[in-house]
Amino acid sequence: MKVKARVSETGQEVDAHIDSDWASVHPTDPRARPLLYCPERSCYNRVSAVELQNASGQVTRFFRFVRNGPTCVHAEVDEPVVVVREPPARTGETDEHQWLKDYVQRMAIRLGYDDAATEVTLSDTVRADVFVPNVPYGRVEVQRVATDVAERTRHFDDVVWLLRATFNETNKRYLFTWPCVQVRVVRRQGDRWVIAEPWRDGLDGALVRATATVLQARPTPNAGEEFGFFETEKHVPLAAFLGDVWSGQRRWYGPKTAHRFGGWITVEDFARYTEWTRERRALGENPPSRGEPLADEATTSASAALDPPQDQVGTQDGPRLTDDLGDESPEPQTGLSLPAPEPPAAPSWWTRFRRWLTGGSR
Ligand SMILES: [Zn+2]
Repeated sequence: MKVKARVSETGQEVDAHIDSDWASVHPTDPRARPLLYCPERSCYNRVSAVELQNASGQVTRFFRFVRNGPTCVHAEVDEPVVVVREPPARTGETDEHQWLKDYVQRMAIRLGYDDAATEVTLSDTVRADVFVPNVPYGRVEVQRVATDVAERTRHFDDVVWLLRATFNETNKRYLFTWPCVQVRVVRRQGDRWVIAEPWRDGLDGALVRATATVLQARPTPNAGEEFGFFETEKHVPLAAFLGDVWSGQRRWYGPKTAHRFGGWITVEDFARYTEWTRERRALGENPPSRGEPLADEATTSASAALDPPQDQVGTQDGPRLTDDLGDESPEPQTGLSLPAPEPPAAPSWWTRFRRWLTGGSR
């Protein structure tokens, strides 16, 4: 890492130790951050200003190479600049809300989105809880009890809503209609999973997961149902989910686009779904008509999806993926390369699909 950089526009060198320098290269609004280079005059490798805060309020500042950019060893140092910040003034927000916002920002920065920031004003009416510039769904809103989701989405619709208390009826209504995902925070206690509260007692052992509207292709599509292709995916770390969303690999598809209720589907799975419906049509299948009011059905199914027994939160072997962010080392970590949930193996899926097409599995 580096603690010095050069501002493109002026050629001026900036030093992360100096507060006024830092303020000029790391302003609150991420869109106002200037283009930066390596401090070596002959070198034009891009760097970005990164500020990471850990749970106890310690802040580190440094410059790192931009995602996928060239690297060099000019002015390299081993340690970032460490500053201690006063605990933020109480704003009336709950600890949980503040914690989840900070967590999402920290994950974004770990993923290489160095400009991720909290509390960013996007327009007269929209102040994002977290904003990641220049990515799909870069506006992230965190809510325990959803209010005005529809209205607030319209004002800036490139958004992902993270909803906490989805046992609440209002949340359920929004969850499956607007670009929302349920966030569960759990911890292993003996042989069972319990609700974790890392905003009270730290992230140690806690898993933060995206659930309810994260969809995956069924191993075998259900030909008897118009929307028989997808099912709810379990055990997706929030970090992996947001990584897929921001990289463009996973998108929101509204109700009855590819599933009864709205959900987040990988672009790859959606292409397979499109192929599936094309093949069905070619075979003259007549799926149920689309015009039927399916809202009740969606709500019923959705409610069922929301209330798995506690032991369904984890498998016997524990979750497949972890999203532990307890280590605050500022270096990008290979453990955070965020493996996408493994798709079903193509040949066996294809074999089952062919068998289904030819009537073998029905
Ligand atoms: Zn350089």
